[in-house]
Amino acid sequence: MPPSRTWLFFALMLLANYLIMRTLFPPTGESIALPYTAFRDEVAKGNVEAIYNQGQAIEGRLRKAITWPIPGETVPAPPGTSKAEQRLREEPRTSDTFTTVLPTFVGAGLEQFLIDHKVEISAVSIQTGSNPLVTLLFGFGPAILFIAFYVWLFRRAQQGMGGMGGLGGIMGIGQSRARRYDQESTQKVTFDDVAGIDEAENELIEIVDFLKDPAKYQRLGGTAPKGVLLVGAPGTGKTLLARAVAGEAGVPFFSMSASEFVEMIVGVGAARVRDLFKQARDNAPAIIFIDELDAIGRARGQVAIGGASEQEQTLNQILTEMDGFSGREGIIVLAATNQPDVLDKALLRPGRFDRHVVVNLPDRKGREAILKVHTRAVPLAADVVLGEIAAATPGLSGADLKNLVNEAALLAARREVDAVRAKDFTDALEKIVLGPERPLILSDADRERIAYHEGGHAILGLVVPGADPVHRVTIVPRGRALGVTYQRPDDDRYNYPEAYLRAKIVGMLGGRVAEEIVYGTRTTGAENDIEQATQLARSMVTRWGMSERLGAVQLAPRQNAYLGAAGWGGMAAERPYSEETAKAIDGEVSRILAESSAEATRLLREHRRELAALAAALLQHETLDEREILAATGLPPAPALPTRPIGR
Ligand code: ADP
Ligand code: MG
Ligand code: ZN
Repeated sequence: MPPSRTWLFFALMLLANYLIMRTLFPPTGESIALPYTAFRDEVAKGNVEAIYNQGQAIEGRLRKAITWPIPGETVPAPPGTSKAEQRLREEPRTSDTFTTVLPTFVGAGLEQFLIDHKVEISAVSIQTGSNPLVTLLFGFGPAILFIAFYVWLFRRAQQGMGGMGGLGGIMGIGQSRARRYDQESTQKVTFDDVAGIDEAENELIEIVDFLKDPAKYQRLGGTAPKGVLLVGAPGTGKTLLARAVAGEAGVPFFSMSASEFVEMIVGVGAARVRDLFKQARDNAPAIIFIDELDAIGRARGQVAIGGASEQEQTLNQILTEMDGFSGREGIIVLAATNQPDVLDKALLRPGRFDRHVVVNLPDRKGREAILKVHTRAVPLAADVVLGEIAAATPGLSGADLKNLVNEAALLAARREVDAVRAKDFTDALEKIVLGPERPLILSDADRERIAYHEGGHAILGLVVPGADPVHRVTIVPRGRALGVTYQRPDDDRYNYPEAYLRAKIVGMLGGRVAEEIVYGTRTTGAENDIEQATQLARSMVTRWGMSERLGAVQLAPRQNAYLGAAGWGGMAAERPYSEETAKAIDGEVSRILAESSAEATRLLREHRRELAALAAALLQHETLDEREILAATGLPPAPALPTRPIGR
């Protein structure tokens, strides 16, 4: 349990305790203070059961509770009573105990009066029940017990782990909460629901086959793979694939997310793993699926302090369990991760997760197939061509495409049309890629400046060889940007030439350069452009060996191919190169940026007229598509990069 949940747990415990005590021992209410005359009236009515007298003060118990003061009546207050005090005196309270003070002039006649009205004259205080010590014990005793029990549980889990057995029966803490998907699972997923990642699918089909007919594979002495690791970017369909395997295999499927193993109570994770594998063994042949394996599979000794020992124990337990079966039981462990490089090497050894299935981002054909799957239940207008949408969406994952279809359907519904049209898809894509439009009132001067800024990016997208085609320019604020120039390659790219990266940096700096040329001043509007350009230039120097001066040396940690995050293995601060090299890197990055900025300046000066025309068109129409951009500037699309080998 994370700490916050622990506190919640305690708070709930205290509340429950309070409520239980409240019902078992309802509060009697504080006794009311009766004036002597009212006391006499109650005695006369026969409502006073017993009194206890000490000096002039009397405590007493009534037969029937009364409310005092009688609601609505004002109570005369002695002079000098504060307002708050007076309000308190006037607030009616109900109780069956009371106090009163005898006037000094009351004679012995009172005794006879009391006896006549059957009032018991008590020898001990009437209100023993409200002794503060007793109240305290009643109120907190159970809470203390609960806390003691919790501490005991904690200790026990910390020392013994394994011994959760009997306790597990009561509390279920050590048991895995694995969900079991069977063939007749309500929402069955099959390979029909998975598209565009055929290689990964084929590898898993083999696994399914094996589980259906192990004998066929064992005939020649082969053994089944024990562990299969699905590796890929978020949203590429790893979880989906695993569920499809379950749907197809017709064997019990135990699924669990690794983050669920990680609990505050040390040892519980390991107990859960044990239970998970036991369930699978009892039901073999079976599949175990551990999602987000990196949550526990992180290399040992590299984990933040605190969660470390728990995570290690859980990881060790997984290793032990995987070593414990021979591959003949028919249990296959699937796991998914988007950070394969942080995984503990021990997990990847032969006999453990030795098979890796890479789930790639879908290519154009794949995207079309995925769109087909997700538009099965969506009525499409005649102008929708899924192939075109697929072509317009390089880099989108299966999950993104599913989201795109959903956004388009929602848009179409809001526009009250009967089928989703191509335009709905275009607008939905724009919303996903560029962010939603933002209602922001800008001054005319700001709008003009933004028009020139975006115009600068767009013109360079037309005149720099190898630049990605400009599909849209807008000066409507979207997402976090004040304006957007949307460029994207016409097809999927896997390898980027240096000249292409240079063209990209030149284009990124175009907005700021245009502002400088036109206004002679700078604004904060180029922050994001500068950031991106700098990152790209730095990668060229440190990762891709594109600097003559530094050469082909790895100077930056390898990026996680699936998340884009980077880190030098262990401690972050250490750089495996000298101070001079660091200076040289900075110098090279600055040089690339300066050269690119100069190139952008040269090109935009040269096309100053086209820039002005484009800015004017933007101010008038706010958003321009590719055709309109070409028309406004009178320029042709950017020429391609030369691709012929040198020297032939
Ligand atoms: P991951 O586990 O790789 O992060 P998921 O499997 O959770 O991705 O994908 C989320 C959703 O996106 C899936 O439930 C599915 O609807 C959709 N999706 C992702 N990839 C595909 C695909 N290849 N084919 C069809 N749908 C997909
Ligand atoms: Mg997932
Ligand atoms: Zn910009």
